Amino acid sequence: MLKTVSADLHIHTCLSPCASLDMTPRKIVGHAREAGLSIIAVTDHNSAENVPAVEGAAAGTGLYVIPGIEINTVEEVHVLGLFQSCRDALEMQNLVFGNLTPGENDENLFGLQVIANERDEVEGFNRRLLVGSTSLNVNRTVEWIHRYHGIAVFSHIDREVNSIIGQLGFIPGDIPIDGIEISRNLDSASARLRFSEYGRYPMITSSDSHELEDIGSARTMFTIEELNFSEIRMAFAGRDGRAIANDQY
Ligand SMILES: [Zn+2]
Ligand SMILES: [Zn+2]
Repeated sequence: MLKTVSADLHIHTCLSPCASLDMTPRKIVGHAREAGLSIIAVTDHNSAENVPAVEGAAAGTGLYVIPGIEINTVEEVHVLGLFQSCRDALEMQNLVFGNLTPGENDENLFGLQVIANERDEVEGFNRRLLVGSTSLNVNRTVEWIHRYHGIAVFSHIDREVNSIIGQLGFIPGDIPIDGIEISRNLDSASARLRFSEYGRYPMITSSDSHELEDIGSARTMFTIEELNFSEIRMAFAGRDGRAIANDQY
């Protein structure tokens, strides 16, 4: 039977240099459940290293965690890759690491990049320049997300920087993107009006949380049968009664 559940598909952890160090796996899961979310996606900048820990922290709680990554393309466009399995997300991460701007993270300038475990303990630090861009262009990024069986979404298209519209001025029609995301700064009715020419794309609204209190501050309602990735994929495609809505939060 179909049911409608609440999702926030854009959450950073303490691995993202710009996110709060409080964004630990257990705390994220706790806040997500308190906010009444059924689905979250973990989407750190150019890395998926904390996905296993958040999945572990969510085990047995009923919260469904989508392994994800927010890739910064060569055009400085942010693209969300959402995956069925941790393995696929980590394969995508390997590709991203291989194409990342060389250099080390400056912890004083950008912040720490903490790799955590499911008990909120520090396992180590990622020293790469996760805040940088990759040499992958938008087309290749979407292509590779699909090769790893993922769903590709253009992040926060209403933002002036690091969004497809901010960087390129428009959404090229030849990119097989699965959805577009509106940030929490814009309500969904205004977004539909402002981006009416892109009405053919499924639209999600997410918090892009960098702080615990932001989790669930913008969300997407999924009408699906069960909490699994194929149901979510069907909702993006609008198949068999599965659907996405943004106007109930
Ligand atoms: Zn972003
Ligand atoms: Zn983000």
